[in-house]
Amino acid sequence: WSYERSPPVYPSPEASGRGDWQEAWSYATDLVSQMTLEEKVNLTYGYTTEANGCNGKIAPIPRLGFKGLCMNNAGNGVGGNEGSYAYPAALHVGASWNRQLAYDRALYMGREFKKKGVNVALGPSTGPLGRIPKGGRNWEAPSNDPYLSGVLTYETTVGLQRSVMACVKHLIGNEQETSRKAPRKFENDETHPSYYNASISSNIDDKTMHELYLWPFYDSIRAGAGSVMCAYQRVNNSYSCQNSKVLNGLLKSEMAFEGFVVSDWYEHKSGVGSANAGLDVVMPVAPLWQDGLLVEMVRNGSVSEARVDEMVKRVVAAAWRFADFDAGTGISFNLTQAHSFVDARDSSSKHTLLQGAVEGHVLVKNVKNALPLQKPRFVSVFGYDAVVNMRHTAEGLGFNTWKMGLAGSQRFVNGSVLTNEMLDYLFASSAEQTVTGPEIALNGTLTTGGGSGASIGSNIDAPLDAIRRRAYEDDTALAWDVQSPAPLVNKASEVCLVFINAQASENWDRKNLTDSYSDNIVNTVANQCNNTMVIIHTAGVRLVDAWYDHPNVTAIIYGHLPGQDSGWALVEILYGKQAPSGRMPYTVAKKESDYGVMLDPDFPSEDTPYYPQSNFTEGIYIDYKHFEKHSIEPRFPFGFGLTYSEFEYSNLRIHVNQNKTDSRLPPNPETILPGGISLWDKVAEIRVEVANTGAVAAAEVAQLYLGIPGGAKKVLRGFEKQLLNPGSQSLISFPLTRRDLSTWDIVEQQWVLQSGTYKVYVGKSVTDIQLTGEFTI
Ligand code: BGC
Repeated sequence: WSYERSPPVYPSPEASGRGDWQEAWSYATDLVSQMTLEEKVNLTYGYTTEANGCNGKIAPIPRLGFKGLCMNNAGNGVGGNEGSYAYPAALHVGASWNRQLAYDRALYMGREFKKKGVNVALGPSTGPLGRIPKGGRNWEAPSNDPYLSGVLTYETTVGLQRSVMACVKHLIGNEQETSRKAPRKFENDETHPSYYNASISSNIDDKTMHELYLWPFYDSIRAGAGSVMCAYQRVNNSYSCQNSKVLNGLLKSEMAFEGFVVSDWYEHKSGVGSANAGLDVVMPVAPLWQDGLLVEMVRNGSVSEARVDEMVKRVVAAAWRFADFDAGTGISFNLTQAHSFVDARDSSSKHTLLQGAVEGHVLVKNVKNALPLQKPRFVSVFGYDAVVNMRHTAEGLGFNTWKMGLAGSQRFVNGSVLTNEMLDYLFASSAEQTVTGPEIALNGTLTTGGGSGASIGSNIDAPLDAIRRRAYEDDTALAWDVQSPAPLVNKASEVCLVFINAQASENWDRKNLTDSYSDNIVNTVANQCNNTMVIIHTAGVRLVDAWYDHPNVTAIIYGHLPGQDSGWALVEILYGKQAPSGRMPYTVAKKESDYGVMLDPDFPSEDTPYYPQSNFTEGIYIDYKHFEKHSIEPRFPFGFGLTYSEFEYSNLRIHVNQNKTDSRLPPNPETILPGGISLWDKVAEIRVEVANTGAVAAAEVAQLYLGIPGGAKKVLRGFEKQLLNPGSQSLISFPLTRRDLSTWDIVEQQWVLQSGTYKVYVGKSVTDIQLTGEFTI
């Protein structure tokens, strides 16, 4: 389809209870047949009650034993409350490249949601994919590589749904926060230049839509996700939550999604339009359906009753499958209602909490084995990010998640404090302004990104806390100055650890990928200390060229967003109790301009002040595909990460199952059903052997990239993380499905295997290829 226009796809396809949905569907069909039109309509939007802290709630129908649904944030654990753990953020999961950890984390998060009485967890997020490195919400999803994000989102969906329903979001193209909504803030101010603006339109071509943005949604839906959240912004100029191509077409026809679609919060732009375009539920209120409006639309024939039945059947069926009503439907989180405090934590998840935190750390520089530390006599610690913030409280403000999610109440703008007035402006409930964030660095250790995906946690172990514990054990002398922007270093220091961070949040995009305030701290320390190690907690890409080459900077670790076990996890790595095993889930450039047109979000321009446009002209070439296409040397390539051991690769073997390679799929959408046959057939398998030839136990992340005929030079199509003892080796196998080997054919409207030569690259990162081969289809 063309960029500027989203094609109409009507009518809304009916779900039919395929596969695992069968029983749920017949239950729902029966229940819904007993409902009056008014009762049905009541289930299509949120209802407001003071009785609980859920972000959104569907009303019960006691007469029929339907107990309603409590939906609550988010993908990184139970949001907006006390009494739950703060797990590592999804980006951290991405950096761990560990399927099992992704599953375990979700399993435990799901149990906490359930104990809180939540039925629908508003996650995982796999959109934004991370097209724009400055994007405010990239950290809520694992990676900007669709394959990596897809695999980990699949595991997360399955893990969550052992206890509650997952809601995969945001469908689709929500790649920037700037202008993500129409500027309701200015709705009463006709003189304001933004008064007439619509939200940004993400203009995405069909091939790019499938091969990048939709890819991980396929995985989550294949995993059985019970619900999907549509996005705030427009897609090819039609609002996502009333875009019939997106909802009726891509989601419900092509992906054969059987659950329900819920709007992003307060996203209701049309009544009849959204209903017929495939939206099933509006949250938390539905100005254009409630108060009898949807009933009237049915009565006057603008929306069929069958469509309403279908909305409600989807809700009831998904609820029947995934929502455990015995867990209750929604309890209060707020400290203002202390009587309802529910401690959802369970110590059986503590191993996953810690190990998840450990494995998302990526070591990217380690000169002459500066790390691991060997009982140093004197360590000095610097930087605002080493310590807990002065406040760690859920305050009961209503906006606690937002404010605290920004890791505390005080923050620096190049060293000065961002005032509460600014905060309130940024986070006013109707803040749909096109604000981009100031250059900020936070004065407390960063464990989560900000906004509705933030997880605050029941406690925080900051780096300095953990380092002090270890220093007591080793009898190491310890000095610290975490306050001065230009600290003096005690000359006796054997090691200087500098902690800085880079925050990102829902509601605004980052202004820079570096900040000079933090860079100055690093350089000041490095100028005085010849063994300076930098730890960066970051909610996304953070450039390091202001000091990367400094001869005294001996080690650099990206600590990402580890959640509440941050300090402990870091100490495991610093002291070599575990070798680092994280790998970059995105590309770090040497300079901002290397990201090309993707660097900045789009702003309403002079030409399109009312209908801002974001053309995804780079197509599938984002992140490492962009760097490879334009031969730009990255600072840290995608997939890169060092450890304390060495690995050798050998014995590449390729097996293609030729009788599965008929070049076309039968043109039948049933074949790409979740759990269906063709698209997920194993068509080939690639094997290698990896040996730990170094001196310590460590994990290797073997990565498989393919050069698909006619496509990008390399795309990730397999990875496997293996913990190996020194001297041992392991056989690693990368199974390849039909989808893995296909590209989206815009004429056939199908995934199609290519005939020709596929290049095979197995290596330690996208640029560090150890073995190559090829096969032909
Ligand atoms: C966010 C969603 C979130 C919802 C409920 C929205 O502003 O975009 O991701 O789940 O609010 O808080």
